Amino acid sequence: MTASSAEATHGNVLSPDRKGVLVDTTVCVGCRQCELACKIAHDLPTGDVESYHDRSVFKSMRRPSDTALTVVNEFRNPKNELLPINVKVQCMHCDHPACVSACIVGALKKQENGAVLWDSGKCIGCRYCMVACPFQIPQFQYHRALQPEIRKCDFCYSRTSEGKLPACIEICPVETMTYGPLSEVIKIAREKIRRDPDRFVDHILGEREVNGTSWVYLAGRAFTELGFPNLPYEPAPGVSESIQHGIFAYFFPPVMYFSLLGTVMWLTKKNSDTPGTGSNDHA
Ligand code: SF4
Ligand code: SF4
Ligand code: SF4
Repeated sequence: MTASSAEATHGNVLSPDRKGVLVDTTVCVGCRQCELACKIAHDLPTGDVESYHDRSVFKSMRRPSDTALTVVNEFRNPKNELLPINVKVQCMHCDHPACVSACIVGALKKQENGAVLWDSGKCIGCRYCMVACPFQIPQFQYHRALQPEIRKCDFCYSRTSEGKLPACIEICPVETMTYGPLSEVIKIAREKIRRDPDRFVDHILGEREVNGTSWVYLAGRAFTELGFPNLPYEPAPGVSESIQHGIFAYFFPPVMYFSLLGTVMWLTKKNSDTPGTGSNDHA
Protein backbone atom coordinates (compact mmCIF):
# COMPACT_ATOMS: atom_id res chain seq x y z
CA MET A 1 0.00 0.00 0.00
CA THR A 2 1.36 3.44 -0.91
CA ALA A 3 0.64 6.76 0.70
CA SER A 4 -1.65 7.74 -2.15
CA SER A 5 -3.45 4.53 -2.94
CA ALA A 6 -4.76 1.38 -1.37
CA GLU A 7 -5.55 -1.98 -2.90
CA ALA A 8 -9.24 -2.72 -3.11
CA THR A 9 -10.62 -6.08 -4.18
CA HIS A 10 -8.89 -8.07 -6.94
CA GLY A 11 -6.00 -5.68 -7.45
CA ASN A 12 -8.17 -2.61 -8.05
CA VAL A 13 -6.57 0.68 -7.24
CA LEU A 14 -8.63 2.64 -4.73
CA SER A 15 -6.95 6.00 -4.76
CA PRO A 16 -8.00 8.67 -2.25
CA ASP A 17 -7.75 11.09 -5.19
CA ARG A 18 -10.16 9.17 -7.39
CA LYS A 19 -12.70 11.21 -9.27
CA GLY A 20 -16.42 11.18 -8.67
CA VAL A 21 -19.63 12.66 -10.03
CA LEU A 22 -22.61 14.05 -8.18
CA VAL A 23 -25.85 13.71 -10.15
CA ASP A 24 -28.48 16.09 -8.78
CA THR A 25 -31.74 14.70 -10.12
CA THR A 26 -33.62 17.77 -8.89
CA VAL A 27 -31.79 19.79 -11.57
CA CYS A 28 -32.04 17.49 -14.62
CA VAL A 29 -34.62 18.60 -17.20
CA GLY A 30 -34.62 15.37 -19.22
CA CYS A 31 -33.25 16.91 -22.43
CA ARG A 32 -31.25 13.73 -23.19
CA GLN A 33 -28.31 15.69 -24.59
CA CYS A 34 -26.08 13.58 -22.33
CA GLU A 35 -27.26 10.45 -24.17
CA LEU A 36 -26.37 12.01 -27.50
CA ALA A 37 -23.00 13.35 -26.35
CA CYS A 38 -22.05 9.97 -24.91
CA LYS A 39 -22.80 8.23 -28.21
CA ILE A 40 -20.81 10.77 -30.20
CA ALA A 41 -17.86 10.46 -27.81
CA HIS A 42 -17.88 6.68 -28.23
CA ASP A 43 -18.56 6.48 -31.98
CA LEU A 44 -21.92 4.84 -31.41
CA PRO A 45 -24.82 5.28 -33.85
CA THR A 46 -26.81 8.36 -32.83
CA GLY A 47 -29.85 8.10 -35.13
CA ASP A 48 -31.71 11.33 -35.86
CA VAL A 49 -30.42 13.95 -33.42
CA GLU A 50 -33.83 15.66 -33.49
CA SER A 51 -35.37 12.52 -31.98
CA TYR A 52 -33.67 13.28 -28.66
CA HIS A 53 -36.31 15.98 -28.10
CA ASP A 54 -39.02 13.32 -28.23
CA ARG A 55 -40.25 12.83 -24.67
CA SER A 56 -42.46 9.88 -25.58
CA VAL A 57 -39.43 7.63 -24.87
CA PHE A 58 -40.10 8.28 -21.20
CA LYS A 59 -43.29 6.20 -21.37
CA SER A 60 -41.22 3.13 -20.66
CA MET A 61 -38.28 2.64 -18.35
CA ARG A 62 -35.05 2.24 -20.31
CA ARG A 63 -31.74 0.65 -19.38
CA PRO A 64 -28.26 1.29 -20.80
CA SER A 65 -27.50 -0.95 -23.77
CA ASP A 66 -24.51 -1.82 -25.93
CA THR A 67 -25.34 1.19 -28.13
CA ALA A 68 -26.48 3.58 -25.37
CA LEU A 69 -24.05 3.66 -22.45
CA THR A 70 -26.27 6.08 -20.57
CA VAL A 71 -30.03 6.71 -20.64
CA VAL A 72 -32.37 9.12 -18.89
CA ASN A 73 -35.68 7.98 -17.40
CA GLU A 74 -38.61 10.01 -16.14
CA PHE A 75 -40.60 9.55 -12.92
CA ARG A 76 -43.66 11.23 -11.45
CA ASN A 77 -42.93 14.02 -9.01
CA PRO A 78 -45.43 13.80 -6.13
CA LYS A 79 -44.46 17.33 -5.03
CA ASN A 80 -45.18 18.86 -8.45
CA GLU A 81 -47.07 16.94 -11.13
CA LEU A 82 -45.91 19.41 -13.81
CA LEU A 83 -42.24 18.91 -13.03
CA PRO A 84 -41.24 15.26 -13.53
CA ILE A 85 -38.09 13.81 -12.01
CA ASN A 86 -35.46 12.78 -14.57
CA VAL A 87 -32.78 10.30 -13.67
CA LYS A 88 -29.66 9.61 -15.75
CA VAL A 89 -28.35 6.05 -15.49
CA GLN A 90 -24.88 4.66 -16.30
CA CYS A 91 -22.17 2.57 -14.64
CA MET A 92 -21.67 3.74 -11.05
CA HIS A 93 -17.92 2.92 -11.08
CA CYS A 94 -18.15 1.13 -7.73
CA ASP A 95 -15.24 1.27 -5.28
CA HIS A 96 -15.49 -2.50 -4.82
CA PRO A 97 -16.98 -3.52 -8.16
CA ALA A 98 -18.88 -6.78 -8.29
CA CYS A 99 -18.16 -6.96 -12.01
CA VAL A 100 -14.42 -6.97 -11.28
CA SER A 101 -14.79 -9.55 -8.55
CA ALA A 102 -16.85 -11.79 -10.82
CA CYS A 103 -14.53 -11.68 -13.81
CA ILE A 104 -12.42 -14.82 -13.83
CA VAL A 105 -9.79 -13.49 -16.23
CA GLY A 106 -9.29 -9.99 -14.82
CA ALA A 107 -10.84 -8.23 -17.82
CA LEU A 108 -12.35 -5.51 -15.61
CA LYS A 109 -10.38 -3.27 -13.30
CA LYS A 110 -10.85 -0.08 -11.31
CA GLN A 111 -8.31 2.54 -12.31
CA GLU A 112 -6.57 5.09 -10.12
CA ASN A 113 -8.92 7.87 -11.33
CA GLY A 114 -11.97 5.85 -10.28
CA ALA A 115 -13.07 4.49 -13.68
CA VAL A 116 -13.92 0.79 -13.92
CA LEU A 117 -12.70 -0.30 -17.36
CA TRP A 118 -13.09 -3.41 -19.43
CA ASP A 119 -10.35 -5.01 -21.56
CA SER A 120 -11.48 -6.75 -24.76
CA GLY A 121 -8.11 -8.47 -25.02
CA LYS A 122 -8.74 -10.38 -21.82
CA CYS A 123 -12.53 -10.85 -21.95
CA ILE A 124 -13.66 -14.37 -22.80
CA GLY A 125 -17.35 -13.48 -23.09
CA CYS A 126 -18.58 -15.47 -20.08
CA ARG A 127 -20.91 -12.55 -19.10
CA TYR A 128 -20.41 -13.22 -15.42
CA CYS A 129 -19.99 -9.47 -14.85
CA MET A 130 -23.54 -8.96 -16.15
CA VAL A 131 -24.93 -11.32 -13.55
CA ALA A 132 -22.85 -9.84 -10.74
CA CYS A 133 -23.49 -6.12 -11.26
CA PRO A 134 -26.00 -4.90 -8.65
CA PHE A 135 -27.02 -2.06 -11.00
CA GLN A 136 -27.48 -4.31 -14.07
CA ILE A 137 -25.12 -2.22 -16.16
CA PRO A 138 -22.78 -4.31 -18.37
CA GLN A 139 -24.40 -5.19 -21.69
CA PHE A 140 -23.38 -7.85 -24.19
CA GLN A 141 -23.38 -7.44 -27.98
CA TYR A 142 -25.64 -10.42 -28.66
CA HIS A 143 -26.21 -9.29 -32.25
CA ARG A 144 -22.53 -9.59 -33.13
CA ALA A 145 -21.76 -13.06 -34.39
CA LEU A 146 -17.99 -12.58 -34.24
CA GLN A 147 -16.39 -11.57 -30.97
CA PRO A 148 -19.31 -9.88 -29.23
CA GLU A 149 -18.14 -7.56 -26.48
CA ILE A 150 -19.25 -6.23 -23.13
CA ARG A 151 -20.22 -2.56 -23.22
CA LYS A 152 -20.68 -0.04 -20.41
CA CYS A 153 -19.85 3.56 -19.49
CA ASP A 154 -16.06 3.98 -19.27
CA PHE A 155 -16.23 7.30 -17.35
CA CYS A 156 -14.89 8.84 -20.60
CA TYR A 157 -11.42 7.64 -19.67
CA SER A 158 -9.87 8.90 -22.93
CA ARG A 159 -11.32 12.37 -22.44
CA THR A 160 -10.48 12.71 -18.76
CA SER A 161 -6.93 11.46 -19.43
CA GLU A 162 -6.55 14.56 -21.64
CA GLY A 163 -7.96 16.83 -18.96
CA LYS A 164 -11.42 17.06 -20.56
CA LEU A 165 -14.71 16.53 -18.78
CA PRO A 166 -16.75 13.39 -19.47
CA ALA A 167 -18.87 14.15 -22.54
CA CYS A 168 -22.21 13.86 -20.75
CA ILE A 169 -21.12 16.31 -18.06
CA GLU A 170 -19.70 18.81 -20.51
CA ILE A 171 -22.87 18.93 -22.61
CA CYS A 172 -25.45 19.18 -19.82
CA PRO A 173 -27.11 22.61 -20.22
CA VAL A 174 -28.24 22.85 -16.59
CA GLU A 175 -25.18 21.38 -14.85
CA THR A 176 -26.97 18.40 -13.39
CA MET A 177 -23.61 16.76 -12.72
CA THR A 178 -20.61 17.93 -10.69
CA TYR A 179 -17.25 16.30 -11.49
CA GLY A 180 -14.25 16.35 -9.15
CA PRO A 181 -12.43 14.40 -6.45
CA LEU A 182 -14.99 11.99 -4.97
CA SER A 183 -14.37 13.22 -1.43
CA GLU A 184 -15.15 16.80 -2.55
CA VAL A 185 -18.20 15.72 -4.52
CA ILE A 186 -19.63 14.03 -1.42
CA LYS A 187 -19.00 17.17 0.64
CA ILE A 188 -20.91 19.21 -1.96
CA ALA A 189 -23.78 16.73 -1.79
CA ARG A 190 -23.91 16.96 2.03
CA GLU A 191 -23.88 20.75 1.85
CA LYS A 192 -26.73 20.77 -0.66
CA ILE A 193 -28.86 18.65 1.67
CA ARG A 194 -27.97 20.81 4.67
CA ARG A 195 -28.88 24.02 2.86
CA ASP A 196 -32.12 22.79 1.33
CA PRO A 197 -33.60 19.94 3.40
CA ASP A 198 -37.03 20.36 1.82
CA ARG A 199 -35.63 19.83 -1.67
CA PHE A 200 -33.72 16.61 -0.98
CA VAL A 201 -34.27 13.35 0.87
CA ASP A 202 -31.48 12.98 3.43
CA HIS A 203 -29.63 10.32 1.47
CA ILE A 204 -26.65 10.40 -0.90
CA LEU A 205 -27.10 7.32 -3.05
CA GLY A 206 -23.73 5.64 -3.57
CA GLU A 207 -22.04 7.14 -0.54
CA ARG A 208 -22.44 3.88 1.33
CA GLU A 209 -24.36 1.46 -0.92
CA VAL A 210 -22.18 -1.51 -1.90
CA ASN A 211 -19.42 0.19 0.11
CA GLY A 212 -19.34 3.27 -2.10
CA THR A 213 -19.54 4.23 -5.76
CA SER A 214 -17.77 6.94 -7.75
CA TRP A 215 -21.07 8.28 -9.11
CA VAL A 216 -23.40 9.46 -6.35
CA TYR A 217 -26.91 10.87 -6.52
CA LEU A 218 -29.20 13.35 -4.80
CA ALA A 219 -32.99 13.29 -5.18
CA GLY A 220 -36.19 14.72 -3.79
CA ARG A 221 -37.81 11.30 -3.60
CA ALA A 222 -36.74 7.89 -2.25
CA PHE A 223 -34.27 6.30 -4.64
CA THR A 224 -36.17 3.01 -4.66
CA GLU A 225 -39.01 4.97 -6.30
CA LEU A 226 -36.61 6.24 -8.97
CA GLY A 227 -35.54 2.94 -10.45
CA PHE A 228 -32.63 2.18 -8.12
CA PRO A 229 -32.38 -1.14 -6.28
CA ASN A 230 -32.40 -1.20 -2.50
CA LEU A 231 -28.80 -2.21 -1.85
CA PRO A 232 -26.88 -3.12 1.30
CA TYR A 233 -23.81 -1.19 2.45
CA GLU A 234 -21.56 -4.22 2.21
CA PRO A 235 -19.45 -4.55 -0.96
CA ALA A 236 -21.27 -6.35 -3.73
CA PRO A 237 -18.56 -8.92 -4.56
CA GLY A 238 -20.21 -11.09 -1.92
CA VAL A 239 -23.16 -11.29 -4.26
CA SER A 240 -21.11 -12.81 -7.05
CA GLU A 241 -19.31 -15.13 -4.70
CA SER A 242 -22.59 -16.43 -3.31
CA ILE A 243 -23.85 -16.98 -6.86
CA GLN A 244 -20.73 -18.95 -7.67
CA HIS A 245 -21.09 -21.06 -4.57
CA GLY A 246 -24.84 -21.46 -5.06
CA ILE A 247 -24.59 -22.55 -8.65
CA PHE A 248 -21.72 -24.93 -8.16
CA ALA A 249 -22.49 -26.34 -4.72
CA TYR A 250 -23.61 -29.67 -6.18
CA PHE A 251 -20.96 -29.89 -8.87
CA PHE A 252 -17.20 -29.70 -8.77
CA PRO A 253 -15.60 -26.63 -7.19
CA PRO A 254 -15.96 -23.27 -9.01
CA VAL A 255 -12.22 -22.88 -9.40
CA MET A 256 -12.04 -26.12 -11.38
CA TYR A 257 -15.11 -25.20 -13.40
CA PHE A 258 -13.80 -21.74 -14.23
CA SER A 259 -10.39 -23.11 -15.14
CA LEU A 260 -12.05 -25.42 -17.64
CA LEU A 261 -14.49 -22.76 -18.87
CA GLY A 262 -11.69 -20.22 -19.14
CA THR A 263 -9.51 -22.59 -21.14
CA VAL A 264 -12.33 -23.46 -23.55
CA MET A 265 -13.32 -19.81 -24.02
CA TRP A 266 -9.74 -18.66 -24.37
CA LEU A 267 -9.10 -21.29 -27.06
CA THR A 268 -12.33 -20.33 -28.86
CA LYS A 269 -11.42 -16.66 -28.70
CA LYS A 270 -7.86 -17.33 -29.85
CA ASN A 271 -9.07 -19.24 -32.89
CA SER A 272 -11.52 -16.49 -33.92
CA ASP A 273 -9.22 -13.57 -33.11
CA THR A 274 -9.36 -10.81 -35.68
CA PRO A 275 -7.48 -7.52 -35.50
CA GLY A 276 -9.23 -4.19 -34.93
CA THR A 277 -11.85 -5.17 -32.37
CA GLY A 278 -13.11 -2.46 -30.03
CA SER A 279 -12.33 -2.05 -26.39
CA ASN A 280 -12.90 0.45 -23.67
CA ASP A 281 -9.63 -0.47 -22.06
CA HIS A 282 -7.55 2.65 -22.09
CA ALA A 283 -5.29 1.70 -19.26
S1 SF4 B 1 -28.05 16.63 -20.40
FE1 SF4 B 1 -28.32 17.17 -18.23
S2 SF4 B 1 -30.40 17.98 -18.08
FE2 SF4 B 1 -30.25 16.94 -20.04
S3 SF4 B 1 -31.01 14.87 -19.59
FE3 SF4 B 1 -28.78 14.78 -19.37
S4 SF4 B 1 -28.40 15.15 -17.20
FE4 SF4 B 1 -30.51 15.80 -17.61
S1 SF4 C 1 -22.11 -0.43 -11.56
FE1 SF4 C 1 -21.85 -2.57 -12.17
S2 SF4 C 1 -20.59 -2.47 -14.02
FE2 SF4 C 1 -20.35 -0.51 -12.96
S3 SF4 C 1 -18.55 -0.79 -11.63
FE3 SF4 C 1 -20.36 -1.28 -10.39
S4 SF4 C 1 -20.55 -3.51 -10.60
FE4 SF4 C 1 -19.22 -2.83 -12.27
S1 SF4 D 1 -19.00 9.37 -18.45
FE1 SF4 D 1 -18.69 9.16 -20.68
S2 SF4 D 1 -19.15 6.99 -21.08
FE2 SF4 D 1 -20.04 7.49 -19.06
S3 SF4 D 1 -22.16 8.09 -19.48
FE3 SF4 D 1 -20.93 9.98 -19.46
S4 SF4 D 1 -20.38 10.29 -21.63
FE4 SF4 D 1 -21.04 8.18 -21.43
